[in-house]
Amino acid sequence: MSERLIIIGSGPSGLTAAIYAARANLAPLLFEGFQAGGIPGGQLMITTTIENFPGFKDGVSGQELMAGMREQALRFGTRMLMEDVESVNLAARPFTVTSTGGDTYEACSLIISTGATARRLPIESEKKFFGRGISACAVCDGALPVFRNKPIAVIGGGDTAVEEALHLSKFGSKIHIIHRRDSLRASTIMQQRALAHQKIEILWNKVVEEFVGDKLLGGIRLKDTRTGETSLLEVAGAFEAIGHRPNTAFLGGQLRLTEAGYIFTHPGTTQTSVEGVFAAGDVQDFRYRQAITAAGSGCMAALDAQKWLTERGFC
Ligand code: NDP
Repeated sequence: MSERLIIIGSGPSGLTAAIYAARANLAPLLFEGFQAGGIPGGQLMITTTIENFPGFKDGVSGQELMAGMREQALRFGTRMLMEDVESVNLAARPFTVTSTGGDTYEACSLIISTGATARRLPIESEKKFFGRGISACAVCDGALPVFRNKPIAVIGGGDTAVEEALHLSKFGSKIHIIHRRDSLRASTIMQQRALAHQKIEILWNKVVEEFVGDKLLGGIRLKDTRTGETSLLEVAGAFEAIGHRPNTAFLGGQLRLTEAGYIFTHPGTTQTSVEGVFAAGDVQDFRYRQAITAAGSGCMAALDAQKWLTERGFC
């Protein structure tokens, strides 16, 4: 028998969709994921204190927030599988979802909430200091005491890098944007903001050779791409802003994507290019990428799916 609704992904969007769908008696089946696209619970599982999720006046750890959402989804009858989805077939109805274990499930509707993975530099020392001074999210970690009034680096030259640098300028003593070329990729207005900012300095034509430090990050060994010269930049923090990769590989090109590779949704809705398939959270949102906006779009996806199922007599 077909499931009414399968939700793929267990970050704030997937779990919020599950809470709403379960409370609407849709008995959703949710794939929590296992390792594809990061650990179950999504990117919040690797952040520290979240201070901007409304309702937690003293902040909440990412793991605690996700555990709470998960329990709330279970309480209303969501069934969960800690497995990755390997592929889906959206060409026939009911849709089919195949897990990496090889099991196939049928579903009348789907919510895709598989998130995006921050790209990270493929350097051995990056792994050592990730979470010990290196982060991929300035909004999540920038305000931590360890970065206050200290020099901080942002790696990348796109809109995210500039946005992160501007955000970090509220906390750090100096923000160094490390960019591998001699011009930014960021939009003109963002470039102007970075160039005009007193605390922001752009280090052009520089790549990270190595992250150095003791237990915590203490500096970055940089290499000039033109001269080959190396130098040591002392920083307490390094924020990687070299782009995100939306987790869409398992879709096998069956949904329309935007130019940047995110799932296309009809404006103001979570409806994708295939009727009955909805998308929520970072897999379809390149702009806001916050826990609260992901949760909000998960709610929208559940309501959209519920309406669509009701109109069709459920399947
Ligand atoms: P982008 O892909 O635009 O930029 C990534 C940056 O990282 C580039 O400057 C790139 O360098 C650099 N980079 C990539 N790989 C490496 C590497 N291995 N080593 C060093 N540098 C590297 O990603 P963003 O996340 O900045 O933006 C994604 C999309 O989201 C864009 O369309 C952007 O406009 C949009 N966005 C919009 C915002 C807004 O409107 N407020 C805010 C944030 C993002 P290079 O330039 O040489 O390729």
